[in-house]
Amino acid sequence: MTVTRSLRRAGKASAGALAGALACALVAAGVADGAALTAPGPWSTARIAPMLLVAAVAVLVLATVARRLRFEPPSARAQRASFWLLVAADLVDIEVSLALVAGTSTAIAVSGGLDSPLHPLMYAVVAFAATLLSRPGAIAAVGGALIVEAALITRAAPTWQDALVPATTHAAFLIGAASAHALMLRGLIARHRRRRAIRLDREVAAQRESARDYRLIASALGPSSRAPRDRDDEERLLAAGGVQIIADQVAWVLATLKRSLDARTVALAWLDDDGERLKLKEIVSDRDDVVEQPRLATSGVLAAVVRDRAPLILAATKPGQLPYYLGGGDGAAFTGVPVLEGPHLRGVLCADRARPFDERERDLLADAVGQLVRTVQAERVFRAVERAKYEHERFFQAAAMLGSALTPEQVMEIAFDAAAAIVGFDVAAISLYDKDKGRHRVAAVRATPGGEKLLDVERLANLEFADNAGLTAMVVKNRHYLPAGGEVREVTAPVYTKAVKLDDVKSLLILPLVSADEAIGTFLLAARAEKRFGKDVREMLGVIATQVAVSLQNGLLYKRMETMATTDGLTGLTNHRTFQDRFADLLERARRHGLKAAVLLCDVDHFKKVNDNYGHPVGDEVLRRVARVLMDVARKIDITARYGGEEFVVVLENTGLDQARQVGERIRQEVARIVVETEKGPLKVTQSIGVACFPDDAGDRAQLIERADHALYHAKHSGRNQVVTYPEFTAARAKKAG
Ligand code: GH3
Ligand code: MG
Ligand code: MG
Repeated sequence: MTVTRSLRRAGKASAGALAGALACALVAAGVADGAALTAPGPWSTARIAPMLLVAAVAVLVLATVARRLRFEPPSARAQRASFWLLVAADLVDIEVSLALVAGTSTAIAVSGGLDSPLHPLMYAVVAFAATLLSRPGAIAAVGGALIVEAALITRAAPTWQDALVPATTHAAFLIGAASAHALMLRGLIARHRRRRAIRLDREVAAQRESARDYRLIASALGPSSRAPRDRDDEERLLAAGGVQIIADQVAWVLATLKRSLDARTVALAWLDDDGERLKLKEIVSDRDDVVEQPRLATSGVLAAVVRDRAPLILAATKPGQLPYYLGGGDGAAFTGVPVLEGPHLRGVLCADRARPFDERERDLLADAVGQLVRTVQAERVFRAVERAKYEHERFFQAAAMLGSALTPEQVMEIAFDAAAAIVGFDVAAISLYDKDKGRHRVAAVRATPGGEKLLDVERLANLEFADNAGLTAMVVKNRHYLPAGGEVREVTAPVYTKAVKLDDVKSLLILPLVSADEAIGTFLLAARAEKRFGKDVREMLGVIATQVAVSLQNGLLYKRMETMATTDGLTGLTNHRTFQDRFADLLERARRHGLKAAVLLCDVDHFKKVNDNYGHPVGDEVLRRVARVLMDVARKIDITARYGGEEFVVVLENTGLDQARQVGERIRQEVARIVVETEKGPLKVTQSIGVACFPDDAGDRAQLIERADHALYHAKHSGRNQVVTYPEFTAARAKKAG
């Protein structure tokens, strides 16, 4: 069986070369000599034979060249498996060489032998072969040419002594031509190839080394000493390193087994992911008929081991039962053991040879399986440790980042980043709890693309709700994470409120944000995948949450300080300094866009009397009430500030004189409506307002204020409790002067 296959392969691989050699021999023997071809007389065998030869050689040349162009070298595995496949590439080159030599010498022979004008063609063929074909191809071309030439010369010369000199000269020329080309072009090509090969080798070596050394480097060096890699890179490197180590181990174990069992073949077949098909993972064999494709047939003795999950010894297999041989093998003795990892079947380790295996030898195989499984497991554990280390590294980085965040918004964004470095989630949200009001507010949300639907993210943003029986409220109350185990399975309570529904969430974790023993809010993570928030992850996230809580509190403090620096403590309005900045910005905007703006300067009438008659605290209350009126009347884009003492200023953006006057009038009316209850009975106040407009009345800040002040002064002196614009003031002044 094997013999016939080997013969078939040998025949297939060398037929072309043999045909070429035969053609050369026939030409050398003079079958195609011009004399024979052009022999006078009718169609005779003497003429037909050379004509047939010419035609045959022509066909051979064409077929050979076509074969060479189509030729694809067999895979490395196939080359290892069969001698004929190993030398196939060289044989094809020899075939081309011989065919070309035969073709050329036929052409030379028909066109007049040694004197033929086509004679130099032989040098071209030799040069071509020496330059572009493999070494055996080149040698075949030179050898073929030498023999054919020598035959031609010898036949033309009367004695062999006469042939000696021309034959030697021709041979020298042929060899010279071939060597010159080989030396020049081959040298060039070789140099180029070598350079490329070295580069390739170096790259492969570097890749391998980085993969293999990675485990050592990664553990030997601290996190800061290597460039940051993202999660995918890290995974890839770890996997590559692991695969290389496992492959080395497996090869070593199989080779050792083969030697100690004196087996013909030892093979490891792996079950693919769905656990149905066997793939040849590694094979060590003396035979050259092992299959070329890794996928194995589902029948045979290996399938029996898979099915029974039990070791198997067969004194003889039926022919065709060993799927790793082409044709299924010849019925050798066999032993195979299942590769079990815990309860999981991973594959089959097996061996075959002529003489039967005994139980001790089967057990050796089983021991080897244990060794292989341990290698795989160790590698897996190593990867898990590496991954955990990577996560911890990111975790510390995240913790450090949190310390540097200033505003609450920054803290929450970094909190999401930090969580993402530790675990994959689809939705994350932070809620804040206002202890005084007993209300929760979702302050920040982040969803991965596609994660939005999971928790109704749109509804979530800025969701506010009172204390309830939901998970979030409970987490704040108990300062303990929910739900237990990070799993949604038996959760019935709403996450925030009943309006926010969970859709397709399998893993859920709501951590309390605890700072100084108080829960200031919650950190929620939700994922579609199951079992995302296991114990380790929960612990790390818990630390992150604590850090977030402290940073958030700092952030909130920072915000309070910022508010304090920009607002007036008594009224909550913008303070004078901030007012000047915002006023400058607003005017700049108006100038750029060619818009109007109006300044309203407001002063409480006879305020000194309020203080004097009712006391300072009542005066303060009046100021607060007036401030609230201003805030209510003005729009968000306007500036409402305490200018100083009992004077306020309102700047209306994109507002002309008439409209500003109307706004001033509304303010005046609303202030007049204020009633402050005091010990001495209800108190009512009024306010006078001066208005100046940009750009009609003045073009800069100082002048605008000054002109509004002029108008205010006029309002005070013409009866108080009224609005006066700058044009009204100038008109009145002109009238008075006139
Ligand atoms: P006019 O109608 O002309 O404005 O008379 P007026 O009494 O309001 O006069 P003026 O504007 O000069 O009065 C300013 C008074 O406002 C002086 C000061 O006692 C009082 N005042 C300034 N700041 C405060 C404050 O923060 N609280 C209280 N209660 N009074 C203040
Ligand atoms: Mg005043
Ligand atoms: Mg006043």
